[in-house]
Amino acid sequence: MKRSRDTISHHQASLRIENFLHAVPTSSKVSSGTSGLSPYWQAKKSIGTYTAQEAQRLSDLGIEARMRVKISDHYEALVTGQSGMPPSEPLRFLVTARDEEVVDLSGESDPSSQMLFSPIPGLLHKYEMALIHVVNTCSAHCRYCYRLDFFSGKTGKKIAKIPDVISYIRAHNKRQLQTSEANPIREVLLSGGDPMVLTNAKLASWLGHLAEAGISQIRIGTKELAFRPQRFDEALFSMLDDFHHFYPNVRLVFAVHFSHPDEFLQRDEYGDYIETAKGINQWIEAVELPVNQLSKRRNFISLENQTPIIKHINDSSNVIERLQRQLYHKGIGNHYFFQCRRIEGHRAFALPVERTLQIVNDSQRSLSGVECHARLVMSTQRGKIEIVGEAGDQIVFRLLRDSNGGAQKGAIAIAQRNPEAVWIDDYLDRIISDPQTVLK
Ligand code: SF4
Repeated sequence: MKRSRDTISHHQASLRIENFLHAVPTSSKVSSGTSGLSPYWQAKKSIGTYTAQEAQRLSDLGIEARMRVKISDHYEALVTGQSGMPPSEPLRFLVTARDEEVVDLSGESDPSSQMLFSPIPGLLHKYEMALIHVVNTCSAHCRYCYRLDFFSGKTGKKIAKIPDVISYIRAHNKRQLQTSEANPIREVLLSGGDPMVLTNAKLASWLGHLAEAGISQIRIGTKELAFRPQRFDEALFSMLDDFHHFYPNVRLVFAVHFSHPDEFLQRDEYGDYIETAKGINQWIEAVELPVNQLSKRRNFISLENQTPIIKHINDSSNVIERLQRQLYHKGIGNHYFFQCRRIEGHRAFALPVERTLQIVNDSQRSLSGVECHARLVMSTQRGKIEIVGEAGDQIVFRLLRDSNGGAQKGAIAIAQRNPEAVWIDDYLDRIISDPQTVLK
């Protein structure tokens, strides 16, 4: 009996994914760290980011109802000084809960109305690409995180299931083939939480199934290089190499999240960055090793950094300049800076929009063209809005990514400046020109 082409290719596809998944090495180092405030107030930890009294007080304040406290051992050592370098105050702000978080809980429970773009549980389809929530935790929790509703389950966001996602992508792309304005899903972003807290087997399963569904670029959004660089071990690289062997036409992009140079640069006893050559700083070995390993695979892996600019953490042009220069020198592109989203409790973290713009602009004055690719954006329901710049008492925005099909990508809006504004809504009463409703 003659088999159809489809049957043969389906058979080959399942053999390929079977062989790939069969080859995945089992272990990667188990996550290590502290979850919750109770180990601190119960004095099970003798040293750490909180004293027992602080932990008890924060716990009584109900701080974990907003977001659970979580920190990896690697990051806690950087915060407390157990790493051999002086304690890092910016990193302390990034992971430690403070009273201010719950003083004013105003904000959006579902930031940027993401649920409007979720056709199936765990998948957001807002632009030409799709975002997939593959896990709902990270090795540590950034207090400014815009996923806090996902972590708490408050808005009903769910972890995606592989079969549902694959069926959705196949059905969507089949429909697109039949239309004149074909807009198939070619690229996906694995997000969470942090996909890198998954086992290699689970991660490989996502990669393999997406590749079989015709996806040609897979982004992995992760802060694990900062929180737990030891996750990037031999077993992981072996899995990534196998993936490339079986799916040579699929590119992986690690969308990494370094917020401050203290996360990856070596500091001396006075807290100064150690220079190895003029203008080039020495990296922390535990972070440098995996970055070098990833960079060696640039034929199928790219690295791009993105981070919000947050009060007390990285609200300095010098810090952001160093971040961009040193990352680029190591082969990590500078992709986005974000205005802090209007999450519940955002007033403890958000800088005014115009202050953020000034920090990014000042940071890029002495950088070369290739070092300063990063754009400053706000992720809104309307799309990704770039904060372009100021002209006298006016501020200019551009729609960088359009959530409404893409036709208005590039549209410009102008508003009167508002030094107090922390989000796009704070400009709505002062629009000068917005013919394509970028701001509304
Ligand atoms: S790493 Fe990303 S997802 Fe995880 S807590 Fe930080 S901001 Fe949120």
